[in-house]
Amino acid sequence: MAFDPAYASIFPRTTRVERGRLSIGGLDAQELTRDFGSPLYVFDETELRETCREYVRAFTSRHAATEVTYASKAYLSRWMAAVAAEEGIGLDIVSGGELAVALAAGFPAARCHFHGNNKSEQELREALDAGVGRIIVDNFHELEMLDRIARALGAAQPIILRVAPGVDAHTHAKTTTGTLDTKFGFPISTGAAEQAIAEAQRLKGVDLRGLHCHLGSPLFDLEPYDEANAVMLPFAAEMRRKHGLELREYSPGGGYAAQYIRERPAPSTETYAEAVVSSFKRRCAENGLPLPHLFVEPGRSLVARAGVALYTVGARKEVEGLRTWVSVDGGMADNIRPAIYDAKYEAVVVNRADDEPAETVTIAGKFCESGDLLVKDARLPHTEPGDVIALPASGAYCLTMASNYNMSLKPAVVAARDGVARLIRRRETYADLLATDAWDEPAHIAPDAAR
Ligand SMILES: *Cc1c(COP(=O)(O)O)cnc(C)c1O
Repeated sequence: MAFDPAYASIFPRTTRVERGRLSIGGLDAQELTRDFGSPLYVFDETELRETCREYVRAFTSRHAATEVTYASKAYLSRWMAAVAAEEGIGLDIVSGGELAVALAAGFPAARCHFHGNNKSEQELREALDAGVGRIIVDNFHELEMLDRIARALGAAQPIILRVAPGVDAHTHAKTTTGTLDTKFGFPISTGAAEQAIAEAQRLKGVDLRGLHCHLGSPLFDLEPYDEANAVMLPFAAEMRRKHGLELREYSPGGGYAAQYIRERPAPSTETYAEAVVSSFKRRCAENGLPLPHLFVEPGRSLVARAGVALYTVGARKEVEGLRTWVSVDGGMADNIRPAIYDAKYEAVVVNRADDEPAETVTIAGKFCESGDLLVKDARLPHTEPGDVIALPASGAYCLTMASNYNMSLKPAVVAARDGVARLIRRRETYADLLATDAWDEPAHIAPDAAR
C-alpha cells in the first residue's frame, strides 16, 4: 500500500516516503531522532518560506498596501524571526519576552506590533525603547499608561485600538475572542470603543492610526470575517463623522485555519485572502472610506504544517475489548492542545509509513495526567518499542505552550532544508531545570537581585 495521498496537505511539501521510510526536507525522520534524540520537533524550512510567500502574494496581489504580520505566539525562536524578516513578514508579539527574542534575532522593531490585554508598564517601556512599530492598545489603563510613557520620551507612539465587534466566530469557547463577553479589546456596543477613540485623539503621547479586531481561531468558515468587517467599517465611518477618525490602518486579525487531520481540510491561503480582502474593500466602499493599509495576522496557518513532532514508542497496555494504549516519550508537556482543546492529530509510523493499518490505538503521553494523550483512536500498523511516530501539523502552539511538567526536558528543535538539519534549539538538560532554582542563595535577597 502507498502512503495515503490525503497526508500530502498535512505534512510539509518536501515530505517523501520511499520504501516505507518517511523523510522531511530530504532527511530520514527516524535517523533525525537518532542524531538529535527523541522527542524531536522538525521544521521544514522550505515549507515555511513557501507559506510566507503564499501569504504575501495572496494578500498584496489583491490589496498592495497589505502587511502580513505573523502572530509569533504560535511559534517563535531566533531562527523563526530571521526567516520572517527575510520573507518580508512582520511580527505580532504579546510580551516583553517575545520582543526580546525577536530583537535578539536582529528582527526590525519597527515591524513588530505589540498586542495583549495586560501589557505591563515595564513591557511598554521596553517596546518604546526598542522602537516597536505599533502598539495595539487593548484598554483604558493601557492607553493612559502608554500616553504617559510616550510623552516622557517626547514622541507620539503609533497605536491601533483593539475593538471587540461582538461577532461570534463559532470556534472553540477557549479560542473565541471577538464577542462582547471577552477579555480582549474595547467593545463597540457599550460605547467603550467610541470613548477610547475620542480619548486617543486627544492624547499627545499616542498617534491613533486605526482599528483592529481578532475573532478567535481557527476559523474554518469565511463568513465571520465579513460579519466583523460589516460591524467594524460602518463603525469606523461613524467615528470619522463624530470624532474625525481617519482610518489609515485596519486589521481583521488572524485565525486562519490549518489542516490537522485528513477529514478536515482548511481553506487555502488564496481562499482566505479573497474572502477577507473582497469583504474589506466592499465594506470600505459602502461606507465611503478610502482603503486603509491592511494588516493580516496569520499564526497557526503560517507555521503548523512546517512542523512535525517525532516521538518514540515505549510501553504498551491492552485493556481487552476496550482500548490499546501506546505510550510515547513526549505528550502534554510539549503538546498540550489535545488535553485542553481536544485537538486532533494524525499519526504516522515513520519507518513503516506505507504499511496497512493493523490496529486502533490511543497514543498516550508519558506525563502524570489521564488527559495526557496525543491521538485518540489512531489507525496504525502494529508498533514495537523503538518505533518512531510522526505527528504532522505540530508547528503551531505546541512548543510555545510547552512546560517542564514532571520536570521534563523540553525537546530539541531542528530546521531541515535540502538534506541539511540545523539544530535551532538544543534539548534541555537537568542543569537547565536547576538554573533558576535559588534555594541555596542567601535567604535575605536584596530587592534588585530578585528581579
Ligand atoms: C493569536 C492571534 C492571532 C493568530 O491566531 P491564529 O489562529 O494562530 O492565526 C492573530 N491576531 C491576534 C491578535 C492574536 O491574538
